Amino acid sequence: MIQALRGMKDIIDDGDLYQYIVKICEEITLNFGYKFIETPKLEQTSLFIRSVGESSDIVNKEMYQFIDKGGNDVCLRPEGTAGVVRAFIEHKFDRAGGVRKYFYYGSMFRYERPQKGRLREFHQFGIECFGEKSVYEDASVIIIGAEILNRLGIKTTLKINSLGDKECMPKYKAKLVEYLNSLDGLCQDCLRRIDTNPIRVLDCKNENCQNLLKNAPLITENLNDECQKDFDKLKEILTNNNIKFEVDPKLVRGLDYYSKTAFEFISDEIGSQSAVLGGGRYDNLVEYLGGRQTYAVGFAMGIERIMEILKSRTQSDERKGIYLCALDDKFIDEIYKLGLNLRKTHNVETNYEAKNPAKHLKSADNLNKKIFLCLGENEFKNNEIWYKNLDNGDDEKLNLNDLERFLNAR
Ligand code: ATP
Ligand code: MG
Repeated sequence: MIQALRGMKDIIDDGDLYQYIVKICEEITLNFGYKFIETPKLEQTSLFIRSVGESSDIVNKEMYQFIDKGGNDVCLRPEGTAGVVRAFIEHKFDRAGGVRKYFYYGSMFRYERPQKGRLREFHQFGIECFGEKSVYEDASVIIIGAEILNRLGIKTTLKINSLGDKECMPKYKAKLVEYLNSLDGLCQDCLRRIDTNPIRVLDCKNENCQNLLKNAPLITENLNDECQKDFDKLKEILTNNNIKFEVDPKLVRGLDYYSKTAFEFISDEIGSQSAVLGGGRYDNLVEYLGGRQTYAVGFAMGIERIMEILKSRTQSDERKGIYLCALDDKFIDEIYKLGLNLRKTHNVETNYEAKNPAKHLKSADNLNKKIFLCLGENEFKNNEIWYKNLDNGDDEKLNLNDLERFLNAR
């Protein structure tokens, strides 16, 4: 028996939930001026090594990388931003100037140890805004995230931080490295990170490391004037617009390309604290990948983690749609045609088998349908159909000529 690969899942029972989540995300981002973008799922490996960063966990150990039949070093995308930035530069939008905003959704691939909320193929919804320097856009990106989670009814804590810029971050890193080198007892991962990416030490999950880091210098106390001003303004905009947040100076995010604003929405509904949506500003990435310097800010949301949370709630048992059936084989053609017609405006399940009324009613109930329509000998003679509302029990014969008007009024 051939089975799906480890860490890869079919969306087979929760298709509506997946689509519902994407629909809400789309609705909200469209109103903020974002447009749909789709980029290839396979890219040159070097794109991710450069953008996500050699010191990140993703590039270090999670890449689905292989040599294709033409000898090209390629990689399934582990995240969405790199491909969008590559496309943005390839189509010369960095030279055109102006503001461009994109949203995307689809599969991402990371070779991680599969566990709850952690898959090898998973789905993200993400947004990227290019060309906007104003910190108001950082606020908007955060607010879009907050609004999506709010509409989906998901309670989260928003954590924000500033990662400084090209000027203050290196100075801060030097201070931090000095401090880290003075410590005794950091874990192996942290010791490795001191050389490769010292700020990642700050979010080590190891409790012992966290204790040692209690007096570490913090980026928030080492920002230059511009970064401090933007960070203060961001906090002010969020406060003025009723977005609750916590400043977490140890929030560094997994990817290497962030500058200034970084944020995460954390939920405690799927086991231990876990990020459902994260993002920030990345003003250097376009230039770093060979384009013109372009301001940029965005986020990515993990759709499966959202689905987990929503599935753990009690499912709504609201009845929906029409069950259409006949009592005799000779009426099947008739109801088949009627079904096609009704489907222009309604959700209809047509049953192709002649059964007795009790069996049909049971099927309609099993399918959680709201309206039962059935054609039998008597109804047919009078140009009628038997109507039953399975929600409130209303039961009557309707003239077929009035049927659509009647259903539309419900
Ligand atoms: P984590 O710290 O949990 O590994 P991350 O920092 O690697 O997360 P991002 O790269 O910021 O995650 O991706 C954005 C979102 O995508 C995460 O907040 C999470 O909801 C989701 N996500 C990331 N990795 C996975 C995975 N392997 N399986 C399912 N969802 C994931
Ligand atoms: Mg990760």
